[in-house]
Amino acid sequence: MTWQARINSALDDRRAAEAFRVRRVVENGAGRFLTREGQRFCNFSSNDYLGLSQHPAIIRAWQKGAERFGVGSGGSGHVSGYTTAHHALEEALADWLGYPRALLFISGFAANQAVITALMGKDDRIVADRLSHASLLEAANLSPAQLRRFAHNDAGQLAALLDKPCEGQQLAVTEGVFSMDGDSAPLAALHEAAKRQNAWLLVDDAHGTGVMGDEGRGSAYQQNVKPELLIVTFGKGFGVSGAAVLCSESVADYLLQFARHLIYSTSMPPAQAVALSASLAVIRGAEGDECRQRLAEHVARFRQGLAALPFHSPDSQSAIQPVIVGENGRALALAQALRQRGMWVTAIRPPTVPPGTARLRLTLTAAHERQDIETLLEALHDAGE
Ligand SMILES: *Cc1c(COP(=O)(O)O)cnc(C)c1O
Repeated sequence: MTWQARINSALDDRRAAEAFRVRRVVENGAGRFLTREGQRFCNFSSNDYLGLSQHPAIIRAWQKGAERFGVGSGGSGHVSGYTTAHHALEEALADWLGYPRALLFISGFAANQAVITALMGKDDRIVADRLSHASLLEAANLSPAQLRRFAHNDAGQLAALLDKPCEGQQLAVTEGVFSMDGDSAPLAALHEAAKRQNAWLLVDDAHGTGVMGDEGRGSAYQQNVKPELLIVTFGKGFGVSGAAVLCSESVADYLLQFARHLIYSTSMPPAQAVALSASLAVIRGAEGDECRQRLAEHVARFRQGLAALPFHSPDSQSAIQPVIVGENGRALALAQALRQRGMWVTAIRPPTVPPGTARLRLTLTAAHERQDIETLLEALHDAGE
């Protein structure tokens, strides 16, 4: 088979499965509205859960940061790219979440790859929730360690897998809030299972950070659990981009030696770190509380309305509200019907979700108005008829 034949065949398979992915150019895709080709849609697709991507003080912080530091960091943190802005943000994150250290990464994807590949050796074992994010499973596959997956949120099965003999170290991996179903992991039970075998627990709280718990400290804090490794990301609740790993002093020093994404990659622009510090200040303060409260009201109203409609939906108390329809074609048609009524929603299809569970993945945010939720429910009602 030639290169061209291989590419064509892979594309044909995707089209045949109605799983061909395209991007759509938008003028603005975060915040309450998505605008595209001059048309405005109410945005139920972004992960900007608190609406902070459009926050004036955070925008100003980024501008001021750029004026002070320029637009780029100039190198990796090991060379010359670790500025006072990066340092201040790491200190603030560690203080907020109650860890000795925080290390910044340019994305959650990079953080997961870096941490897992730096820590895991060939005699080791990773035991990950079956529904873990692609970045976690891919990192696990890239590392030389053995990968085992436990049934979603099943602490008993995690314990059973960890009990099997292992020559090296074991790492249990899960998310705080799952990106496709919006449900939460039972972190205390998972941590107990890990501790019994001296395994460490890594929690990727991409969707809980800023959104759950007191001062937005996330899923682990809310559940009174302190995983050895906590990943927080800034493209969602923070409304910006980037990520951090929260850990002990020695693990931070270890990652600075062995995490290649830190050593061989340009650090985030200092201005972005300034914006992230501003975002953190909003999240921790009274305004953050108001955002979380408004989001909780939207979620409660949506769940109440959806219960009366003929759709299957898992029990999610988070901003992520899946509406499972089954077939790929049906999910696309439903997304299209909502789009015609001025609402931007995303159909999620396998392999991102298990076969037969194509869905709309609706995200509610603090930027929405009460009326937006009512309009969404009416449109789902009409589509369900
Ligand atoms: C979004 C997401 C990531 C990736 O984070 P980025 O900063 O967007 O690269 C990692 N893990 C989970 C669970 C996510 O939802």
